[in-house]
Amino acid sequence: MKLSKERLQETRWSEFPAEWEGVLSFSGREHGNMSLSYGETDNSLKNRENYLRGLGIDYVDLVCVKQIHGNSVACVDIKDKGRGALSAQGAMPGIDGLIAAERNLPLAIFTADCLSVFLYDPRNRVIGLIHAGWRSTKGKISANVIKVMREKYRSKPADLHVRFGPAIRQCCYEVGREFVDFFPGSVVERGGKFYFDLTGVNKRQFLDSGVKETNIYDSLVCTSCRNDEFFSYRREGRSCGRMMSIAMLI
Ligand SMILES: [Zn+2]
Repeated sequence: MKLSKERLQETRWSEFPAEWEGVLSFSGREHGNMSLSYGETDNSLKNRENYLRGLGIDYVDLVCVKQIHGNSVACVDIKDKGRGALSAQGAMPGIDGLIAAERNLPLAIFTADCLSVFLYDPRNRVIGLIHAGWRSTKGKISANVIKVMREKYRSKPADLHVRFGPAIRQCCYEVGREFVDFFPGSVVERGGKFYFDLTGVNKRQFLDSGVKETNIYDSLVCTSCRNDEFFSYRREGRSCGRMMSIAMLI
């Protein structure tokens, strides 16, 4: 387990159980835009190279997906190494989550407000990484990734460790009234406006899938509150850059 930035130490992530034998990390604004599709992309490959070098990862090895805000997750192996690492066209299409059981296969998800979730099965040594915005959350991607890990790798939910990366939180995530129907109990009204608890709904899906609450760790980072340190789509609009979440077994 590597923590590249001191700022992570202030989160509950510092309570990592020792059995997490892998790299899991997320970049911040200071590392630059990591997307080859959104924001100012001229330096993105260089930004990836610099950031990943600090984690002991070669940027050409990344496995990337063309995220579509769906609920599909893919199991990848060594044959997928480098997919989307050098061009957006090479990324795996139509996927919002990755699962891998091989070492040294770095999985990547790109976000700016959406939630990245890291999963680890220490018994079977399997990792997962998903991209959960509200649409994927409505499609139950967190329940789905557990289902696929159970079916494909015989993972037991009670064994799994789950981590929430940076995301826009209920303090800032203003949504339309229709979210009250989409996500009953997870939208609060303040001053005639509605605010959505994206992380809370995903946590509920994990708990309902059998993950233990004591095995769920939250970075507690709100990308909108801390827009100086993180990209926020809601604050900056369509042209904003993307952070990169990385998970890899070692
Ligand atoms: Zn906030």
